[in-house]
Amino acid sequence: MRGPPLVPMIHLIEAAEKPVVAAVEGVALGGGLELALGCHYRIAHSKARLGLPEVTLGLLPGAGGTQRLPRLIGVPAALELITTGRHVTAAEALQLGIVDEVTDHSAVDAAVKFAQSVAGKSLDARRISTYLCPRSPDLAEIFEKAMKEVRRSARGAIAPVTCVQAVHASVTLPYAKGMERERELFSTLFTSGQAHALQYYFFAQRAVSRWSTPSGARWDTSKPRPVRKAAVIGLGTMGRGISVSLAQAGLSVVAVETQEKQLLEAKQAVSGMLERSAKRRGVPLADDKIKYNCSVQAVADVDLVIEAVFEDMALKKTIFQQLSGICKPGTLLCTNTSGLDIDELASQTQSPELVVGMHFFAPAHVMKLLEVVYGPRSSPEALATAMEMGKKMGKVSVAVGNCRGFVGNRMLKPYLEQAFFLLEEGATPEQVDQVLEEFGFAMGVFKVSDLSGLDVGWKVRKADGLVVPGSTGKSARIRGGSRYSPLGDLLCEQGRFGQKTGRGWYQYDKPGGRVAKPDPWLHGFLEEYRARHGLVARRIDHQEMLERCLYALINEGFQILQDGIAAGPEDIDVIYVLGYGWPRHRGGPMFYAGLVGLDKVLERLEHYHQVYPDVLGLKPCSLIRKLAASSSPPIHRWREFIQKPRSQL
Ligand code: NAD
Repeated sequence: MRGPPLVPMIHLIEAAEKPVVAAVEGVALGGGLELALGCHYRIAHSKARLGLPEVTLGLLPGAGGTQRLPRLIGVPAALELITTGRHVTAAEALQLGIVDEVTDHSAVDAAVKFAQSVAGKSLDARRISTYLCPRSPDLAEIFEKAMKEVRRSARGAIAPVTCVQAVHASVTLPYAKGMERERELFSTLFTSGQAHALQYYFFAQRAVSRWSTPSGARWDTSKPRPVRKAAVIGLGTMGRGISVSLAQAGLSVVAVETQEKQLLEAKQAVSGMLERSAKRRGVPLADDKIKYNCSVQAVADVDLVIEAVFEDMALKKTIFQQLSGICKPGTLLCTNTSGLDIDELASQTQSPELVVGMHFFAPAHVMKLLEVVYGPRSSPEALATAMEMGKKMGKVSVAVGNCRGFVGNRMLKPYLEQAFFLLEEGATPEQVDQVLEEFGFAMGVFKVSDLSGLDVGWKVRKADGLVVPGSTGKSARIRGGSRYSPLGDLLCEQGRFGQKTGRGWYQYDKPGGRVAKPDPWLHGFLEEYRARHGLVARRIDHQEMLERCLYALINEGFQILQDGIAAGPEDIDVIYVLGYGWPRHRGGPMFYAGLVGLDKVLERLEHYHQVYPDVLGLKPCSLIRKLAASSSPPIHRWREFIQKPRSQL
């Protein structure tokens, strides 16, 4: 049975002649807070949390929240809460004036007592809808600034912008008219594809915790092991962030680094990270949780090890051999490799069932994503333990199968490849990046490459035998019968590694600089490169740039589903939103493919593959064909069309 509609009910409560006191015992989010704002008084338990998170689902608070909150706490504070969806603690709510009293005891008992104390008092000054919004001379400026800020950070998401418009109505219109405006704006959002995408994404994030593998291991039948003490091997970029995450999760950490200079630097960096984080989150400093060591022998008694040394298979193999001999029986051995074979590492140990990948994203103490990679021999218990550890560290863990690049980096390859081909055909890095940023990516592909370091991919391509220095003629752009662009390799040969060297696809004012500027040298280099290879530059329209980059990535996503590497499209979408800057309001690449229409994506892939038959990544995979041929079922039914792959676990 459905309850009474919220808005009339809130109006009834507010109009009541007897005092109504809201008791907020746990959370009052969205409609709950809107209801409380309709009451004459609000009492909260000290552990309660309050907020209007509708914006995160592509909506706005549509039961008077945008009209009452600014009247109660003023425009700037209301704008901040409504446009970000941030939850506040009871203490902050009291400070802001959202609640009248905070109690450490039962909020209901306190509310009853409070109601008795105000019984008989006039309620005239307690009905928020009758308040005038606090006005200040700089109100126009405040709205202008807020609008600018949301447009910048929303990257194409319409809900935050619409929230500002709704709050604006609370200042410029009488309450009843403001409510009409709120309703109008709410329905615009409700029927927009963005709200649908964000709600899909919200449930996708929950769905990934209910993991399963092709062999039938599952989240609800696999028990994680207790982990109290962990070790990190290698304290470079990743190892430092991982150590911080582990310590903040309450674990004792043994941090091992063999290079003395690196060890000293790491100690300082980790202390700083922990301090800043403790301040930001208002939690005790976890500095004493980490013990540093320069010998791997120090990890003998830990329950879990995360290896984060250079991306070098030979080195990692040696370390896994050592760990297997040093660690107590039952220690889980994890690697943070970006894409190397987990099974090859497992085969170096006496207990391959205890080896899994824990693929963090940089900066590891900030980024929410963790790809947990199971190899063919990883035990369900090992997988469950790594998934649980991720959760403890505040990450969203996604279980994925073992293959080159796992899910995220495997999909990145055809995407990057298309970006390189577009340069060969006449585009500039600025043009490609602009198209991707207009789509909603936090950064275009070339800016991201400059940030992560061009040398990273170069090393991997060298190890794969793809880099052939000085090669000319047709063979320079072909590898294994497929089109290949050596552009990234050529830049690295020039010492252009991106931000770290001050030059990459863009130029920066100094090594380590952050502001990307177009580089005339690079443009000249591209012209010279095209001339050398007989390539004629053409004007490439935005749609082609976007389609080729995104559809190549999506096609790989379908191949990943078909191969059983990801259990479902939700897993891929969560990985792309949390780890690769895919705009959340577009749901993730697989959701987006469904929104565009699988038949349309297929038709465009077929078209581009016809034009570029030597580009394997553009050849539509059989799963997308199958789905399109079955009238493109909704995304929650795609799993029914995936043939069960071979058992992996
Ligand atoms: P890095 O070069 O910053 O750090 C590696 C550290 O390992 C160095 O400090 C080095 O001295 C240390 N080391 C080398 N051999 C060692 C040994 N035998 N014992 C102890 N320490 C040793 O590398 P990184 O960027 O932190 O990458 C580490 C791993 O994480 C790689 O496998 C990489 O592919 C993966 N990864 C990196 C990123 C990223 O963005 N940097 C993201 C995800 C995964």
